[in-house]
Amino acid sequence: MIHVEEAKQLLQSILRPLPSEEVMVRKALGRVLAADVRAPLPMPLFDQSAVDGYVLSSKSLQDGSYRVVGMIRAGDSPPKAIQSGQAYRIYTGAAVPQRAFGVVMQEHVQRTEDRLDVPADRIVKGSHIRKKGGHFKKGAIVLQRSALLNAAAIGLLASLGKQRLRVYRKPVIGLLVTGSELRKAGTVLLEGEIYESNSATLIAALESCGYSVKQLAFARDRKADVERQAKRLMKACDVVLFSGGISVGDFDFVLPVLERLRVKRLFYKVAQKPGKPLYAGSQGRKMVFALPGNPASALVCLYEYVLPTLDGMQMKPHRGLVQVRLRLAEELSLKGDRDQFLRARAVDGQVTVFTAQDSDNLRSFAESNALVFVPAGVARLSAGEQVAVHLLPQQDIVP
Ligand code: AMP
Ligand code: MG
Repeated sequence: MIHVEEAKQLLQSILRPLPSEEVMVRKALGRVLAADVRAPLPMPLFDQSAVDGYVLSSKSLQDGSYRVVGMIRAGDSPPKAIQSGQAYRIYTGAAVPQRAFGVVMQEHVQRTEDRLDVPADRIVKGSHIRKKGGHFKKGAIVLQRSALLNAAAIGLLASLGKQRLRVYRKPVIGLLVTGSELRKAGTVLLEGEIYESNSATLIAALESCGYSVKQLAFARDRKADVERQAKRLMKACDVVLFSGGISVGDFDFVLPVLERLRVKRLFYKVAQKPGKPLYAGSQGRKMVFALPGNPASALVCLYEYVLPTLDGMQMKPHRGLVQVRLRLAEELSLKGDRDQFLRARAVDGQVTVFTAQDSDNLRSFAESNALVFVPAGVARLSAGEQVAVHLLPQQDIVP
């Protein structure tokens, strides 16, 4: 049995980035740049006014008075140059003419018809002018390879007129759900049967992290059935997830099938609760995870192992759930000799661990916005002690 930390490190150590592809900037949210982006333009693109006011020449007619000779709006081509004693009405974002001395805010001047009076202390060289190339020059690297594209990054690229970008490809994910007892919603259950729920859970969790399942398949607990579907998914996908059938029962066929398909085992069984029967393997660049069938175990394993792997295959700078340290709201007693991922709720910088932690129970998980990680050997934690908290995606409260 492997330890949690070791298993996680092993997964990251064998990762290989997927090839890159070109995407439209507008579709690149959450993607990772596969190459540096250089500015095709300087920013700002030209000297421009930062305020609504007046642009002044370097000399006044006398004692801070100027003659207003025109207007420059955002989008107007500016006059070639401003002559001595002249001022132009100017607006935010409008191009400043050459030889302009500075811009003064409209709140700080006196205007009477075409005469403008400006107090001496408001006539400041370069004031309220955003200089061409002031943020960065043409040719500068504005975003580095491996940058995660957030909304601001998308906006920055759009402001540079970029339309397409090179990013790492997203993994194509397949999911094979095994279990002869499982039925689709809408069918009448016979005794002993249950509604299949892991596909809904896992697909939703992946979607909340920006991933989608491209191939979904189901197999009964028959070796030939599992093998046929597994073969198909292994061919079509970068990452194949199995749900169920990985424990030690006589009808758990995932492990023998993976062995037959020559998937290289990275680890099988992790010293953790929940999710002990977790399996991970690889075949060339492809990754395989067999998740335990118990619904809460499957979801914990997806967040803790599959998600960092998917993030890593795209070279994301941050992989897996965001981790913070928070104080326990209530004392916590624990038993067992394995590392634990406990369903919990983080509110206002404190975290409360739910009492219901059974691996087949999604009820408390549904109210959770975090997992608390407690290492093996810790039997009791007092209220106020700090614990490691892994924040679930799309949680409604940021501690
Ligand atoms: P297994 O890992 O296949 O032995 O399954 C462990 C437990 O999880 C059993 O009680 C299964 O019925 C249940 N289970 C397995 N797969 C699913 C699924 N897709 N949806 C809901 N429950 C499942
Ligand atoms: Mg099963």
